[in-house]
Amino acid sequence: MIIDGKKTAEKLREDLKKKIIDLKSTFNSVPGLTVILVGDDPASKIYVKNKEKFSKEVGMNSEVIRYPKNVEESVILDKIMELNKDKKISGILVQLPLPKHISKKKVIETILPAKDVDGFHPVNVGNLSSGYDSSIPCTPLGCFLLLKKVEKNLSGKHAVIIGRSNLNGKPMAQLLLKENCTVTITHSKTKDLKEECLKADIIVAAVGKPKLVKGDWVKKNAIVIDVGINKTESGIVGDVDFDEVSKVARAITPVPGGVGPMTIACLLNNTVECFKRANS
Ligand code: NAP
Repeated sequence: MIIDGKKTAEKLREDLKKKIIDLKSTFNSVPGLTVILVGDDPASKIYVKNKEKFSKEVGMNSEVIRYPKNVEESVILDKIMELNKDKKISGILVQLPLPKHISKKKVIETILPAKDVDGFHPVNVGNLSSGYDSSIPCTPLGCFLLLKKVEKNLSGKHAVIIGRSNLNGKPMAQLLLKENCTVTITHSKTKDLKEECLKADIIVAAVGKPKLVKGDWVKKNAIVIDVGINKTESGIVGDVDFDEVSKVARAITPVPGGVGPMTIACLLNNTVECFKRANS
């Protein structure tokens, strides 16, 4: 089975559109997402453009605030504090990466946890790891929803996560632990990655190494979620060798068209959830 992230994301956005119509009739207002973009990194500009497009499409208020790359850190922090107080804004996202002179940590910690749609604030990270309600980082949430489409009951499954970033690997591990998976987190210092992968019922690869996971690393009937986005001479490929692994796995996400489209849909979902919490 090839897990169609594009279709799943479309369906999620359709559902959100309906939810937002209902919210509007109940509260006479709609969720609002503000994205701060610093500098002119081409990939960031594309991500932000898509975030704006899809948030408008589902009926949210959407705003992008742009700053030049030499903007002072204090300007960004002051703007975030202003947005924190603005009742019309449900979610704030500062597009990463930031220029070196701006502290990512300070920026993330200045965003009110209740408006942290990326789920990066330490309060949300702590809530997720304690099993409490929180904003969940968008890419792992997307992976999780795709996984649940294939397998409703994940209890007792052995999940191997490749990569331990705060963005992907660590929150993914927390989500799967909450579902009673036995979770192994692997990283660049793991001794025998192939051997770890061969034990897995579920593999989530978030590494950034083209086609790292080979067909003979995967147990028959495993579910494989590929987070990687790697530019190569032959185009964009994932961290999994799709041609080899799709012959062995029970289900696999393609790249492109797998996890990628889910990330923005989950951002919109998080914004709606923040709006609902603020109004409840
Ligand atoms: P990251 O911060 O660079 O983390 C990569 C992780 O992989 C690190 O934990 C690193 O280990 C580990 N690693 C590196 N080489 C390894 C190896 N040979 N064996 C095992 N582990 C290894 O990357 P990230 O931000 O999580 O992103 C990972 C990939 O996902 C990238 O391709 C990125 O473009 C993609 N991505 C996709 C989406 C999407 O929407 N689909 C969103 C975000 C990111 P150490 O900790 O030991 O260094």
